[in-house]
Amino acid sequence: MAEIKYIFTTGGVASSLGKGIISSSLAKLLISRGYRVAIQKLDPYINIDPGTLNPYEHGECFVTDDGAETDLDLGHYERFTNVRTSQANNVTTGRIYQAVINKERRGDYLGETVQVIPHITDEIKYRIQLLGASGNYDFVITEIGGTVGDIESLPYIEAVRQMKWELGTRCLVIHLTLVPYLASSGELKTKPTQHSVKMLLESGVQPDVIVCRSEKHLNQAIRNKIALFCNVNPSAVIESVDVETIYDVPMLMRDERLDQVVLEKMQVPIRKQPDLKLWEEFLHKLKNPVGEVHIGLVGKYVELRDAYKSITESFIHAGAENQFKVDLKMIHSESINDSTYKHLLKDLDGILVAPGFGERGIEGKIIAIKFARENKIPFLGICLGMQCAVIEFGRNVLGFKDAHSTEMNPATPYPVIDIMEEQKKIDKKGGTMRLGSYPCTLKPDTKIWDVYKSSEIVERHRHRFEFNNAYKKEYENAGMIPVGINKQNDLIEIIELKDHPWFIGVQFHPEYKSTVASPHPLFVHFVKAAIQYKKLQTK
Ligand code: GLN
Repeated sequence: MAEIKYIFTTGGVASSLGKGIISSSLAKLLISRGYRVAIQKLDPYINIDPGTLNPYEHGECFVTDDGAETDLDLGHYERFTNVRTSQANNVTTGRIYQAVINKERRGDYLGETVQVIPHITDEIKYRIQLLGASGNYDFVITEIGGTVGDIESLPYIEAVRQMKWELGTRCLVIHLTLVPYLASSGELKTKPTQHSVKMLLESGVQPDVIVCRSEKHLNQAIRNKIALFCNVNPSAVIESVDVETIYDVPMLMRDERLDQVVLEKMQVPIRKQPDLKLWEEFLHKLKNPVGEVHIGLVGKYVELRDAYKSITESFIHAGAENQFKVDLKMIHSESINDSTYKHLLKDLDGILVAPGFGERGIEGKIIAIKFARENKIPFLGICLGMQCAVIEFGRNVLGFKDAHSTEMNPATPYPVIDIMEEQKKIDKKGGTMRLGSYPCTLKPDTKIWDVYKSSEIVERHRHRFEFNNAYKKEYENAGMIPVGINKQNDLIEIIELKDHPWFIGVQFHPEYKSTVASPHPLFVHFVKAAIQYKKLQTK
């Protein structure tokens, strides 16, 4: 395709309508027609990145191969499209302003007054076009965070207006709104959509396509009404009705012809129909499980739906791969203590201890791990979960009284988890952890080798602490084996138990790399181990 095209997704009426899922679904459809597509997210907050935000504020922080700490929507982009994202795929207002202010301090503006328009909007436009400039894509889809009308989003909407003006049919705006259903009158209401489009028009942006999120189907009369009041063709009014799983949305958008409408509007010749065979197979396996396993996810943010997003999605991929339903039981680590654990952890076929930071809930995690170890229940510990497994083993098997991580107890007599050497001199919190992809060498004849079937792997990281190599020999002799090592700096990245059917702890985050097209082998094998465990229990 000759020239790169830019598609923008804006949102109106309410937040959390699923701009990320609509953007990902459109990307999936275009990719399945043979186009090369990138998706990026522009976030209107002042933080440089979400790395310093806690999960109550922002849900999970997703990490890319190049070590960017990003919005969790980038996880959806990767899971749907199987295309890796990077630092360039997530830009915040903070980053835009930082770049402009740095230029001003360098003197790049040659005495000009630096203003929101044109300097901030130019920087936004530059960032939008940066991905396109690589020459690797036919389409760049840019999701604008927030809701139209927010003060923070205005410079982004202005940048979209300018790009539309400058690039004509090479730019297209999809506006996602809510069409509420009023049960008392039995009607779908279009007024909020009309108002939200008016709001966009006040900023000079005419949307080309309107996607209407709704709990009921939109009839033709409703579509015509929205089309007439919002200046779009009736065919460009797309319904996005509530579905069972987010993975249904690409099929829904295909049936609503979203991709077709986009291609026609952008005057791109329609070459071939989307090939979604593999996606359909995945959905079939997801929706027709032959059995069910119960897995406990132990963490301190389990009441937040988005805090462990990549982990919960990885279980969906791994469940479908095994054609088993994974019933995830979210267990608050603070609720686990000596008198509750038996009740809370009973009937589980697998236990996962989640990543995290700080002291809160640690002792509950350690009790859950002891229970999994002693009862031979399949266990996966991720990052802090792996570190807790090391602490538990130190305390209860090696007899290291009060063993701990120096993150929680700097004065512990047994610092079995300690700060990494290169982290010691760091005092700034933002973007300074060990982040992104690092290689790891696996030991042959181990469970982890069975999982990856390869001796060299690459996984993504986000941590400051590590297994303390001073204790390596004692652990190994007692049966907790280091089975994955980063050879460059001798970091222990994976441990497993010798006398346990499936007990693995990983310092990295496998969940960031699981996609529909390529479910992560660690989750696939963990679910397999849980199925096996369940079979043995019922024998
Ligand atoms: N808090 C731990 C560390 O910094 C674990 C981090 C995590 O679980 N992502 O090493």
